[in-house]
Amino acid sequence: LSPLARHDPEIAEVLCDELERQRHGLQLIASENLASPAVLAALGSPLTNKYAEGYPGRRYHGGCEVVDRAEQIAIARAKRLFGAEHANVQPYSGTTANLAAYAALLRPGDTVLAMSPRHGGHFTHGSRANFSGRWFDVVPYGVRRDTERIDYDEVRDLALRHEPKMIICGAAAYPRLVDHAVLRGIADEVGAWLLADAAHTIGLVAGGVVPSPVPYADVVTFTTHKTLRGPRGGGILCTGELAPRIDRAVFPFVQGGPMMHVIAAKAVAFGEAARPEFAAYARRVVENARTLVAALEAEGLRPVSGGTDTHLVLADLRPVGVDGATAERRCAAAGVTLDRCPIPFDPEPPSVASGIRLGTPYVTSQGMGPDAMKEIASIVLQAVGNPNAVTSLLARVRALTDAHPAYRNEG
Ligand code: PLP
Repeated sequence: LSPLARHDPEIAEVLCDELERQRHGLQLIASENLASPAVLAALGSPLTNKYAEGYPGRRYHGGCEVVDRAEQIAIARAKRLFGAEHANVQPYSGTTANLAAYAALLRPGDTVLAMSPRHGGHFTHGSRANFSGRWFDVVPYGVRRDTERIDYDEVRDLALRHEPKMIICGAAAYPRLVDHAVLRGIADEVGAWLLADAAHTIGLVAGGVVPSPVPYADVVTFTTHKTLRGPRGGGILCTGELAPRIDRAVFPFVQGGPMMHVIAAKAVAFGEAARPEFAAYARRVVENARTLVAALEAEGLRPVSGGTDTHLVLADLRPVGVDGATAERRCAAAGVTLDRCPIPFDPEPPSVASGIRLGTPYVTSQGMGPDAMKEIASIVLQAVGNPNAVTSLLARVRALTDAHPAYRNEG
């Protein structure tokens, strides 16, 4: 950080403060991770200077021969990592990846079946505040009241009744596996596209610890900064047949010049995710989530759906009589960053919510294991239930994070 400190002390101070915040707090937001110094190096590189509208070998600017190599490497690594026929690595984010995928396959006014944001679906799957809910006629499906798992009978009934052009699966707050084979069958029955939004789970797919949607879905959208542990960004996988439609939808329909520094960083992340160490990491992420959910349950919270198959834990706070917004605030005061989150059939509005969502990707990247997960569960429960315990909890958080420092040698 020292060149920046000399050049722009005000922004250098922001970077230092954020590094300190990440180092000395517990980062339990399920969509966050700890990108490697190699990923950060690619992000902070002169590739940011280069305009490269178009695709490798077909650019609208001169001087793209070098950055073409970065994109070709990223595409080849993504295809190999996920066994996909085609990869587009240009989406700026998961949201623009979804926008491009819808643009490639749908027309405004088409009917789409998607998981309700109130049951864990993402706002790009049909929220009225987002383009998806304005441009398409979105029919929401949800989870069963008794199991809190996707109600595939309901999905099929709705598909037969509404004949959607597309079925979207994948979520932001669903701790269980999605049965892509069943959804493929339903999509085939009604002649719909199947889009899997693997934003959250793609790193676990790369690590081989959850089943891949690639063999079943026509299109898979993803983010590179969550479980995949790369730079902030998005991507799309699809069949060779759909490749031209997807590529045209990303550029020029939805985006302009690609961020070549981010694409280089995505290539680094795909390379890292192909290594055996990453598979071991992905396994530990899920093991840690299972340990965390069991410990939270032992401390008195109710795990939504009874547990987790992924990196993500959704806990119902009603047994301890605290709402999600209060829990989020009290945890923050104790140095624990997590999200309030609606639980299925939540009586509270989303701004309050009855649940919290926790994830293990970041703390697992720090090297934390089962003992740390039990300590985290105890800290969270005390923070939620006892606002007077802040000083002792801050010390316990400090002890955990000092033992597992983020960016040990940076800064
Ligand atoms: N899709 C899902 C399922 C997500 O959880 C998210 C982000 O949380 C997105 C899409 C959007 O990703 P981004 O924030 O990169 O736009």
